[in-house]
Amino acid sequence: MGTMIQMTVYPKGDMATGQTLLDGAFSVVTDLEENLLSRRIASSEVAKINEASDRAHGQQISCVISRELSDIMERCIQMTKDSEGAFDVSLGRLVTLWRIDELAAEVAEDAGAEGKLPGISELSEAMKQCGMESVTLEEGQILLENGVMLDLGSVGKGIALDQIRAYLEQSENQEKLKGGIFSLGGSILTYGEKPDGTPWKVGITDPQDSAKTIGYLTLTGSFCVSTSGDYERYFEVGGLRYHHILDPKTGYPVQNGIHGVTVLSKSGFLSDALSTACFVLGKEKGMALAEKYGAEVLFVGDGNEIFMSDGMKAYFTQISSKP
Ligand code: FAD
Ligand code: MG
Repeated sequence: MGTMIQMTVYPKGDMATGQTLLDGAFSVVTDLEENLLSRRIASSEVAKINEASDRAHGQQISCVISRELSDIMERCIQMTKDSEGAFDVSLGRLVTLWRIDELAAEVAEDAGAEGKLPGISELSEAMKQCGMESVTLEEGQILLENGVMLDLGSVGKGIALDQIRAYLEQSENQEKLKGGIFSLGGSILTYGEKPDGTPWKVGITDPQDSAKTIGYLTLTGSFCVSTSGDYERYFEVGGLRYHHILDPKTGYPVQNGIHGVTVLSKSGFLSDALSTACFVLGKEKGMALAEKYGAEVLFVGDGNEIFMSDGMKAYFTQISSKP
């Protein structure tokens, strides 16, 4: 998934039991990426759908899809409606055009980023090939119009966390495991308990210095925590930060004074989808959206100012930046 994965388990049995569980959890992620969600692996369901849409030169296509992908897409369509279009998994063309991941790596070595930004006409062409109004689900099929391409980068890791938890909750695995913590880039699952009975602590990165944390969440039991930020995948031109979360209304990276959004939920899908949606919506509308889904949210704005839902206050401890 183009990110660092770190998994820690506390098995009830010996280390070999722990290794088996780690291998199983890792396979869950690999299967999901290779067979279902990756845009980059040609054999995945999403890549095949995108290829068919690309080949159709703007004509409508219909593809038979798995129950699993249909359920995911249904939830994504609902999230688009609830977020007034801020959350949008039909931005594949725009994401490809911006290619922030590659530019972030290239620009680190090469100051000439300006000439690499997409032009206005390229952007408006790509925008025409985006939009959830061009995506319809119908009895086991997905219909795509206007050459739309799917990009589930905003929810893939959250879905993986839900699947890891389902794997660990299988009765034969439950008996083998006391607890564990599973980190896929910015999305984290806590599960069960630590052997010493202390709670899980999940740090929240300081957007101004990603080597530091601005605070942490204290969690007992199973939770999902996802963070979307403008400080991991970005490059700068003329003092402006070009990062990977795009405003579907403008086609440009979101610039709204928000630099990090952390969402806490029992559901990995929701924590990941909401962290992206709330980043685009900003704090007032984002807070209302999280509340609608029963999730807690924390925003880090300009100057590391922190805003959070009332429920988040029970979990969050701020680390003072003063010596
Ligand atoms: P999130 O905030 O959770 O998501 C941001 C991502 O969602 C963006 O990168 C974009 O893809 C998409 N997006 C942008 N704007 C919106 C919006 N308004 N609404 C909805 N979605 C939006 N990266 C690599 O470098 N190489 C890989 O091979 C690779 N493979 C991947 C395979 C899978 C299955 C997944 C899920 C991700 C993969 N990625 C890969 C990472 C991916 O490209 C994104 O960078 C990553 O998913 C962003 O996650 P995040 O938690 O940082 O941000
Ligand atoms: Mg997300």
